[in-house]
Amino acid sequence: MDCIFCKIINKEIPSKIIYEDDNILIFEDINPQAPFHALAIPKIHVPTVLELKAEHSNYLFKAFETISKVMKEKGYSEDGFRVVLNTNRAAGQTVFHIHFHVLAGRLLMWPPG
Ligand code: 5GP
Ligand code: ZN
Repeated sequence: MDCIFCKIINKEIPSKIIYEDDNILIFEDINPQAPFHALAIPKIHVPTVLELKAEHSNYLFKAFETISKVMKEKGYSEDGFRVVLNTNRAAGQTVFHIHFHVLAGRLLMWPPG
């Protein structure tokens, strides 16, 4: 399968890993939009939120549980952070393996651009 995030999971493409377990990988975004910008991905290929099924629910819970753990450990939980899920063209999705952007380390504007 020609998916760069599956290749990152399989270590065919290198990445700066922040956290990894059997279900979830969190790694640094190659083009950071904030002082801290990571991507949290399930270790299962689901292209967008539109294809999510009940059987994926544990991956979603694990993703948020892990994001929470990492952000507490990194000291961003009190100031706060943003989790973003882009879907399809209008939102600017470029990689079709579901991923949560996790942004922190600066004041994040609202609404986003
Ligand atoms: P999207 O636009 O699909 O929501 O986000 C895709 C993200 O993946 C972008 O922020 C982009 O910088 C990041 N990205 C794309 N290719 C790579 C890569 O090979 N390695 C890493 N670490 N990030 C990538
Ligand atoms: Zn994939």
